[in-house]
Amino acid sequence: MVDREFVVPGDELGVLEEYLPTLNSYVHGWVVRAKVVGSVHADAFKHEVQVHRVKSPPVLEENNVVQAMVVGLRDTVAFLDIFYNESKKRLYVPPYRGALHISEVGLKLRNIYELLGYGDVVRARVISGKPPFSLSVRGAGYGLIFARCPKCLNPLKKRGLWLYCGNCRKIFKRKKVSKEYLVR
Ligand SMILES: [Zn+2]
Repeated sequence: MVDREFVVPGDELGVLEEYLPTLNSYVHGWVVRAKVVGSVHADAFKHEVQVHRVKSPPVLEENNVVQAMVVGLRDTVAFLDIFYNESKKRLYVPPYRGALHISEVGLKLRNIYELLGYGDVVRARVISGKPPFSLSVRGAGYGLIFARCPKCLNPLKKRGLWLYCGNCRKIFKRKKVSKEYLVR
């Protein structure tokens, strides 16, 4: 018998002398294998084995902390590609589309351009776990974690509260730079 509780399709559950396949399992040669992702339930008296299907966990859940890149900007909203889920330590290829509304920034802004530019990467919290995923950057630790110089595209470094381009020797005053900013 297998010693794993969870199996994926094709995993060996036992041999036919021990168990007969019932739910979500099949025989190939003399080997009983799992047909689905799930948990194994074996009955030694009846000599039966079955796999109980597990629903795949939701990809993004409310309050997950994610990293996302700005791919679109409109007056009051930014569209982002969510490519990494810090809470689940999962990379998303392809990414999931998310949206950040100006009311979820936690600052008084006239428009979203005051905060973000194309290609910027933010650290954000998921506030709706159903697509389209809504994001929030309220609170310390959230906000900009990566940006490039608009002139030379060099990654900007964090210097105090602001960002700095070593090439152009220029400071960029950006609102809502996260304390988790990646380049120092
Ligand atoms: Zn520059």
